[in-house]
Amino acid sequence: MRCLYCHHKVNGEPTLISFFQRDVPLCQDCRSALLFKYPGERCGRCHQLVVTAVDICRDCRLLGELYPAVDKMYTVTDYNEEMKLLLHRYKFVGDYALSEVIALLTDFNFKQYDYVVPVPVSDSRMKERTYNQTSVILKALGVKYTDMLGTKKVKRQSELSRAERLKSTNPFYLLENVRDMNLSGKRLLIADDIYTTGITMHQAAVAVKSLNFQNIDVLTFSKTQHI
Ligand SMILES: [Zn+2]
Ligand SMILES: [Zn+2]
Repeated sequence: MRCLYCHHKVNGEPTLISFFQRDVPLCQDCRSALLFKYPGERCGRCHQLVVTAVDICRDCRLLGELYPAVDKMYTVTDYNEEMKLLLHRYKFVGDYALSEVIALLTDFNFKQYDYVVPVPVSDSRMKERTYNQTSVILKALGVKYTDMLGTKKVKRQSELSRAERLKSTNPFYLLENVRDMNLSGKRLLIADDIYTTGITMHQAAVAVKSLNFQNIDVLTFSKTQHI
């Protein structure tokens, strides 16, 4: 069996243990490199590196005031060097196998949610890329997801300064099909590929807040670190 990511052989002869384990085509070296987390103290909420460990960092407090909708936040790994390479390859080359790699890294209990909603990408970016990366990863994970959000055309987030991003209006809106669904009291998870400033996630959560979910948690497959 070969590693999906580096294409090296995963393990030689089958052992009694490997016989009973599900085949996991990701070698230990790739797994460790992709799951590498920068050492240091963290914010207990967004997992950002901080000087002294805190329950909630300054960014989280600000985001909570601006967009009071997100409950718990989870992230699979840091946006480390290897993850950067993988996601870059994935976004611009469009290699579907890479979604399998991310799925193999993701150890998360999706069953605790009634609905999983991917953060949408705009129509223009969809044309460029032809697929929503987050949806493809969820599919690889075998997670049933529901599209509830649309997104209006806005400037690419990376083209905006931090101050501009904070001021920019919420690009997300509810899709038509959501209106007929009774979502009150249900548990929701919003998923996205990268958590950078957190604004996208918080805006997406605000857009579904009126549906009265019991809780709105968020999961990102990787988190950038800035100090
Ligand atoms: Zn490998
Ligand atoms: Zn934080």
